Amino acid sequence: MSGTAAPPGVGRRVLPTLNEDGSRRWIRPKPSHGKWWRRRQVVAYLLMAAFFAAPHLRIFGKPVFLMDLPRREFTLMGYTFLPTDTLLFMFSLGSVVIGIFLVTALWGRAWCGWACPQTVYLEYLFRPIGRWFDGGYTQSRALDKQGAWFTPRRLGKYLTFFLLSLFVSHTMLAFFVGIPQLYGWMRGSPADHPSAFFFVVLFTGIVWFNFTYFREQTCLIVCPYGRWQSALIDRQSKIVAYDYVRGEPRALGAKNRDPHAGDCINCNACVQTCPTGIDIRNGLQMECVHCTQCIDACDEIMTKIGKPTGLIRYSSQDEIAGKPKHLLRLRTILYPIVLTLLGGGLVGTMYVKKAADLTVLRGLDGPFTTEADGRIANQIRIKITNRRGADMAYRIVLDSLAPANVAPREVTVVLPENPLTVQAGDTRITSAFVLLPPRAFTKGERFITINVSDERDYRESVTYRLLGPTSSAAGSFK
Ligand code: SF4
Ligand code: SF4
Repeated sequence: MSGTAAPPGVGRRVLPTLNEDGSRRWIRPKPSHGKWWRRRQVVAYLLMAAFFAAPHLRIFGKPVFLMDLPRREFTLMGYTFLPTDTLLFMFSLGSVVIGIFLVTALWGRAWCGWACPQTVYLEYLFRPIGRWFDGGYTQSRALDKQGAWFTPRRLGKYLTFFLLSLFVSHTMLAFFVGIPQLYGWMRGSPADHPSAFFFVVLFTGIVWFNFTYFREQTCLIVCPYGRWQSALIDRQSKIVAYDYVRGEPRALGAKNRDPHAGDCINCNACVQTCPTGIDIRNGLQMECVHCTQCIDACDEIMTKIGKPTGLIRYSSQDEIAGKPKHLLRLRTILYPIVLTLLGGGLVGTMYVKKAADLTVLRGLDGPFTTEADGRIANQIRIKITNRRGADMAYRIVLDSLAPANVAPREVTVVLPENPLTVQAGDTRITSAFVLLPPRAFTKGERFITINVSDERDYRESVTYRLLGPTSSAAGSFK
């Protein structure tokens, strides 16, 4: 952490989840059910409801969220991104990244404390259930001290965690394959869908291991976001902070206090409630996930001893140090500008996107062939991607096929399937064959127009270059 006045205690601490002998220090945070806890609880349950409901919801006839890997499509809020949507994907990804940068610059690790699935599910699903099985917070700690990891109630807890993990992993799979496919697989044998079955087994194991054993280690060791925070926030960013100016010098107990002592009574309530086991009074730390539990714990203590709440609160490092606020900083100006440009690019690209993607490609068997009757045959591959939420029939019309010196009976167009039916969100390729006499070509080429239209308002025309013999080499293969 950087700062002009280092808060007390910095430098005396070893890793919060490590005992001095190197063994794991089990964190069993004491819940503090204050106002921030209740606010986060509302957000957490809304997020959980959204996660479990999303695979079942549809918008504009499409899933709200579907990462269809076999078809290489990504559907979000009824809009399907195709592999060709590189620009859209780039704008979306860029917006998310810069959005995270902006949120972090303004409110620190708000994402971690309020919306990260790790925090949401651990603090509002797995931990409360775990405490209930253990018989409460105090009993949990007592069982830990006794090393009683496999009592009947704890085995029941692990089994419940496993069932929850199973549910979470099935929901997760639904985001990749959709609910109808998932239900179909669940009714069938695992041998019929080994990859999906393996995914569920693996993901269930990871979720169970994470929420039963690994817990805060995910935030401390695995997740890179905590390490980024030192680069993404500045001294004006709002963080969960201890007001050391008001709190220090701390003195034990609320009674018979030295009149020069600060407001911190050194009760350790903020430490006991911390899910990553740190002491917020040591200043901004990589391990702090901004969960606000220490705010609630300290507010309760302050209320009990008749002091104003907010000794730990959302504040900036400069604010705590008594320096003025600066909302306008380089990063709070730059990030919104970049975000606006990316958002504008995203909306603009979506706006100009047509209802279908049309690609015209040359045939695979060479530029052209000469038929037995001397005419020149060109194969054209026409690829159509239907972006609409309904199946569509596409009519293909070829224009400007022959010059005036060619009679209509000398021109043949073969389109095996016209109109071409393409399912919603699907891509199909059809071939068109054009047969023309050699004199239809000038210097070995002839430009034609390929018109494609659907049953609604989609119309697109593409100019295509047919290849043929040069006049001096008429009838030869080129
Ligand atoms: S909860 Fe408040 S009073 Fe108690 S130790 Fe923490 S900062 Fe000090
Ligand atoms: S220090 Fe406070 S905000 Fe940070 S993780 Fe611990 S309890 Fe949560």
